[in-house]
Amino acid sequence: MGNQEKKYKWRREGYREKTKGLLMVNTGDGKGKTTCALGLTIRAAGQGLKCCVIQFMKSKTDRYGEHESLEKLGVEVHTMGDGFTWDTQDKAQDIKTSEETWSLCMEKLKSGDYDLLVFDELVYVLDYGFLDEENILNEIAAIRSEQPALHIVMTGRNASEKLIEAADLVSEIKEVKHPFNTGIYAQQGIEF
Ligand code: ATP
Ligand code: MG
Repeated sequence: MGNQEKKYKWRREGYREKTKGLLMVNTGDGKGKTTCALGLTIRAAGQGLKCCVIQFMKSKTDRYGEHESLEKLGVEVHTMGDGFTWDTQDKAQDIKTSEETWSLCMEKLKSGDYDLLVFDELVYVLDYGFLDEENILNEIAAIRSEQPALHIVMTGRNASEKLIEAADLVSEIKEVKHPFNTGIYAQQGIEF
């Protein structure tokens, strides 16, 4: 067993009274849901927590700034969004991609190898109805009862009442101003 493995084991066993693994949701119509989750991942990785980020909507072929940075920190990142049509021209394909991505999430959840799992844009996928929310929440609840120190973060607009109820921490980011509305495009280092 490597030192790192021991450290993670200690972290899981050593979580204190009145602390627990959290289900966290970053939602709302303002910019910052994904960047907030990535910031938390940087903090957690700095404390030796083993983290994995799975992105539902970003394309496998694109390299975002976060991919470069997180890999330098030893954080696993999977982008699974290839094949999404998003204009619902091919709903069957969107459902298939969502299901494949959720299978990877379940593999990571079941492994017991992680302290923090980030499911980026999963809330959109639930909102679009590409995955069955009740089923997902039941699967997450079962895993959390087996791994009480596991932290899970989900991001995306329009978190449902059910998801809000199931979560321990919900932050809603509200748009006050966004440069897109004055014709400014997405920029390197800010949006990707
Ligand atoms: P970020 O990844 O920058 O933290 P986010 O996760 O909050 O953003 P998403 O809903 O995932 O936002 O959308 C991603 C893209 O949409 C980002 O490029 C972001 O700048 C843009 N965006 C987010 N909120 C708004 C908004 N209110 N108006 C226009 N564009 C937005
Ligand atoms: Mg996002």
